[in-house]
Amino acid sequence: MSLINENFLELEDSYLFSTIAKKVSTFTSKNPDKKVIKLGIGDVTRPIVPACLEAMHKAVDEVGTEQGFKGYGPEQGYQFLRKAIIENDYNTRNIEISEDEIFISDGAKCDCGNIVDIFGKDNKVAITNPVYPVYLDTNVMSGRNLTYLPVTAENNFIPQLPKEKVDMIYLCFPNNPTGTVLNREELTKWVKYAKENKSIIFYDAAYEAFIKEKDIPHSIYEIEGAKEVAIEFKSFSKTAGFTGLRCAYVIVPKDLKGYTKNGEQVSLNKLWNRRTCTKFNGVSYIVQRAAEATYTEEGKRQIRENIEYYMENAKTIKEGLEKAGFVCYGGVNSPYVWLKTPNGMKSWDFFDKLLNDIAVVGTPGVGFGDCGEGYFRLTAFGTKEATSEAVERIVKLFK
Ligand code: PLP
Repeated sequence: MSLINENFLELEDSYLFSTIAKKVSTFTSKNPDKKVIKLGIGDVTRPIVPACLEAMHKAVDEVGTEQGFKGYGPEQGYQFLRKAIIENDYNTRNIEISEDEIFISDGAKCDCGNIVDIFGKDNKVAITNPVYPVYLDTNVMSGRNLTYLPVTAENNFIPQLPKEKVDMIYLCFPNNPTGTVLNREELTKWVKYAKENKSIIFYDAAYEAFIKEKDIPHSIYEIEGAKEVAIEFKSFSKTAGFTGLRCAYVIVPKDLKGYTKNGEQVSLNKLWNRRTCTKFNGVSYIVQRAAEATYTEEGKRQIRENIEYYMENAKTIKEGLEKAGFVCYGGVNSPYVWLKTPNGMKSWDFFDKLLNDIAVVGTPGVGFGDCGEGYFRLTAFGTKEATSEAVERIVKLFK
């Protein structure tokens, strides 16, 4: 008899995106002539930039030759990409990272989910509410206790340090779903807390490329001492449109220590390396060459143009809705605008109204946690035209 991991039975069914899809499909079948504008799902829409395409074409040709053929690559990623990451994402910010502290992967979702493998079951885990659901579900799957840190307008979307001691802390900034950020001072408080409590911070910086304001850290390692307490997740998905290509990386500093039950220190870098070599065979050479090309002058310029395109959309949403009296958060350093529903409407009622009255789709805030009730997420990943039209429709509806 094969016993199951009963923790899976503790998971709440994730109805959010399937419910949205069902509602939209019912609506379109009843209203075939209505043009539905979707600003719900957080997937990019602009094509892969020419610099990355060129790099991939070249890599494809290369692996078709006897000298250039590539079989299994290093599990941790090719050196050329790790070097480019260090030089561009870290050295430019005066952060020293060594090659063996970087692990290239096929996505930050997998990294955020897999990292729990190297931590004990008895750790107390803190996540924000609302939250990117991966942190929650992967800890439920592995049977850990969770503490929730509310992030709402009342605390300016700044998670407060927990009263009880926690061992693992997930921070995602710029945040999905709220689009808000943490400044240097706030992030420093968390690093200090983690040091004092021997906790680990999981810092998800998947949206780092969207940061515009000055005092907002792009990496947690900009904070002194963070290399002793933080693992950082980064992704090419939103930065460079790689949601389909798949490439990301995680930094596990060598200064980072975990503890055995007897209090002995163990290198987390060593454990993660072991886990990676056992369960992963690396990202394809062709995709890693594409990721490397995001750091060329051309690549940087081209992906910046795409990010600016999205951020113009974010501005259109935020400013358009604010003018009409909506209260909006995020959208300045992030492609997500998190708005307060008018007149205390429930998130799903607001969703239904937008869909049924004006054929606009967003994401109900409550789907990311109960503290998201009364909020609604719109994304900047649509086209310029569709985004403007959606805003016009919403403004007209609530005039
Ligand atoms: N982290 C956050 C906060 C995200 O919102 C997402 C995707 O939406 C990811 C990670 C996943 O990134 P990837 O495409 O690299 O798996």
